[in-house]
Amino acid sequence: MKVLPNSPCPCHSQKPYQACCQPFHKGKNPPTAVQLMRSRYSAYALAQVGYIIKTTHPKSPFQETDQRQWRKRLQAYCARTQYVGLQILNQETIGDTATVTFHAMILDGGADGSFTEKSAFERVKGRWLYLDSVR
Ligand SMILES: [Zn+2]
Repeated sequence: MKVLPNSPCPCHSQKPYQACCQPFHKGKNPPTAVQLMRSRYSAYALAQVGYIIKTTHPKSPFQETDQRQWRKRLQAYCARTQYVGLQILNQETIGDTATVTFHAMILDGGADGSFTEKSAFERVKGRWLYLDSVR
């Protein structure tokens, strides 16, 4: 998927991409865990796998040792998935840790693959990173 700077952001914020997630994809630091979460969702939609990898906590169970394989797997996942909606249901930030509960509406190979997840984030050296999915 491609998006123009003036097109609606793929994170479904109703804002133009350039006023929403694009600055983060270009290297700006998302100030909140919710903004990081949204920018990861839109990075999935845009198959910006480098951003997904870069914003995954080094201690996350989703880290993979073989970066080339990880990249390939993410690319395949992004290619077969459509990102049709995102709702933030709840968020809590305490110091350098945060949780964000969201509902992601996706089509995985044309079938409904929507899910609700509570994600945990940690701020490391001033940057929010995705840590884990929690119950
Ligand atoms: Zn966005």
